[in-house]
Amino acid sequence: MTRRTAAHLDATGWAGALTVRADEHDLPAPVRDQLLVAVEACGVCHRDLIDREGRIRFLRLPIVPGHEASGRVLQVGPDTQGFSPGDRVATLHRDHCGVCDACLAGETTVCDRAASVLGLTIDGGYASHLLAPERVFYRVPDQLDAPTAAVLHCTLGTAWRGLVTQAGLRSGQHALITGANGGVGHAAVLLAKSLGATVTAVIRDDAHQDFVASLGADQILVDPGDTFHKRLGRRRADVVLDTVGATTFNASLRSLRVGGRLVTVGNIVDARVELNLGYIITFGIRVIGSSGASGADMEALLSWLGSHPIGLRIARTLELSRADEAQRLLRRGGLEGRVVLVP
Ligand SMILES: [Zn+2]
Ligand SMILES: [Zn+2]
Repeated sequence: MTRRTAAHLDATGWAGALTVRADEHDLPAPVRDQLLVAVEACGVCHRDLIDREGRIRFLRLPIVPGHEASGRVLQVGPDTQGFSPGDRVATLHRDHCGVCDACLAGETTVCDRAASVLGLTIDGGYASHLLAPERVFYRVPDQLDAPTAAVLHCTLGTAWRGLVTQAGLRSGQHALITGANGGVGHAAVLLAKSLGATVTAVIRDDAHQDFVASLGADQILVDPGDTFHKRLGRRRADVVLDTVGATTFNASLRSLRVGGRLVTVGNIVDARVELNLGYIITFGIRVIGSSGASGADMEALLSWLGSHPIGLRIARTLELSRADEAQRLLRRGGLEGRVVLVP
């Protein structure tokens, strides 16, 4: 018998609590290609709030939230190929089928046959133990601490896929990052600097100026509205990584040089944007939607970090028993870096 703890979301919305329950159970034995992982840390992400609000239609209830977990493999199912007990792992958002055209091309983040989506269709990482197919995991080096390993994929991984894989950001180019104090935003500033780019960081509240400056941003624009493009100066951006969404989308678009790339990775508020298609056509702008990173992206990122260490910022670390409080903290906004739960 082992004591297992997990936070359960029984209904969508903010009226009820996210209840944390502990019970004594035998650990579930992994079947097929599953891994049983002892969770060491789990990030709390804006997507968790979107899930909780019921904005994603395939959410299965009740569910254990969390798609940003790190830990150590305890047991492996009989059909697993890539992992052994004792391996240090962290999660991607979901599995992939491995045989569709997207998967064969290595584009596993756009596999449309993924069946296991952490925190949405299968129980996630707000727990002491996590049982999921091996394709949900990637291997992490021992020297990465547990909170950093937990949030690496959804923050730096998202930034890597957006800036490097999708937009081809190179040394000497100009990157603009919105929501630069947030989990993904601050990671994107750190990564773009480490790649040798000039970075403009956009924040909504001047309280975050010192924090964003400490990340190395070359220019900081404080803009509670959506007019930062008017203050950008003459050098437009080659790449914009927009982590905010509807409220910043058009200013992001207008921050780009001719032929620039807008990578959109987040949409905090549930709103639509009005789009001047002529602007995109005339200026030859590419708008790229991107979510998370593939296993190959993570391998490339980890290899880059081996020679270019990046210190991700963890805003708060809370006990798993405070999962509900952690989500409400994130919902209030204004955090600098990620919130992490530890079981
Ligand atoms: Zn996330
Ligand atoms: Zn596939």
